Amino acid sequence: MRIMLTGGCGFIGSAVIRHVLADTGHSVVNVDKMTYAASEQALGDLGRHGNRHTLVRADIADAAAMAQAFAAHAPDAVMHLAAETHVDRSIDGPGPFIHTNVLGTYVLLDAARAYWSALPAALRDAFRFHHVSTDEVFGALGPSDPPFTEDTPYDPRSPYSASKAASDHLVRAWRHTYGLPTLVSNTTNNYGPWQFPEKLIPLVLLNALEGKKLPVYGDGSNQRDWLFVDDHAEALVRVLERGVPGATYAIGARQPRSNLQVVQAICAALDARLPDPAGPRSRLIAFVADRPGHDFRYEIDPGAAEAALDWHAPHDFEAGLGRTVDWYLANREWWQAIRAGGYAGQRLGAPGQKDAA
Ligand code: NAD
Repeated sequence: MRIMLTGGCGFIGSAVIRHVLADTGHSVVNVDKMTYAASEQALGDLGRHGNRHTLVRADIADAAAMAQAFAAHAPDAVMHLAAETHVDRSIDGPGPFIHTNVLGTYVLLDAARAYWSALPAALRDAFRFHHVSTDEVFGALGPSDPPFTEDTPYDPRSPYSASKAASDHLVRAWRHTYGLPTLVSNTTNNYGPWQFPEKLIPLVLLNALEGKKLPVYGDGSNQRDWLFVDDHAEALVRVLERGVPGATYAIGARQPRSNLQVVQAICAALDARLPDPAGPRSRLIAFVADRPGHDFRYEIDPGAAEAALDWHAPHDFEAGLGRTVDWYLANREWWQAIRAGGYAGQRLGAPGQKDAA
């Protein structure tokens, strides 16, 4: 397959591309606008893969550029990952989230439809548009609610999750209205190598390494469900290869942890590898005012997707976290350049509390 993959220089997109190039025979046309969150380095050594990867630097909201990309590269399928993704940034400035996640998804869908509807019948039947989304569209669970499934009603709360919910609805509308063969996956929080160090796990890890305070929102009892990014990449390719048009796949690894447990696990993993003479790093934990509208709990029941895809996540949280900590310790140049270049671990998304990190 020739896959047009959007957002391929981001955290998850680059993991999908590394997996596709290393473990499948597919090729990739990577459409990426190269925002602050993009890193070409994350694609690895492309030289080994001949011409199986092409980078198209373009905005998915640019209709002419998208029409041109479909015409020039004639993909067999689309994997749509390009998005603005950081909840705290969506609180500070929702505009880019509406531009990329809502308008961009619409423009990409319409370019895909125009291209797909002109394909010969066999290629049209085989074509897939796979939209990669989040479990945050389902809203927040209470402490004893059952986990989200494919059938959970939508209830997004943040500008980020509302923009992703809008994009999910557009994708399903293009299937129902025009027959475009779409697939949607909704996934729990990812972590692993190459994650931009504004997200919880790399942020805490690097701040702990530098002996900085470790801000924990509220009392740390908010809960997320964690999936190692390479495991997610495998699942996404299975969705593309085996998914039934119109279906939704709720993907996770059954690894719910409270935010405080996550921060403590990071401290313990770092202490085990690189003891701090000043004492255990958990001493750096500082509870700070909660994020506005902070969803209490996300958790996915991945049972239906595991059965449909014949897949389950190989890493539990502790195994994935160990690999993640090892990777950040071995790849200081990458994250030190980011932290030196303007983003130095400060708190985002807390109006009036910019210095509360
Ligand atoms: P990321 O922020 O690391 O990367 C996003 C990529 O998209 C970047 O390379 C960026 O340059 C590109 N991009 C942004 N706007 C663009 C535009 N207008 N046109 C073209 N490219 C653009 O994101 P991520 O964490 O890798 O997430 C990828 C997808 O997975 C997103 O759709 C996100 O909603 C979804 N998702 C993420 C998680 C998670 O925990 N990170 C969990 C579930 C679902």
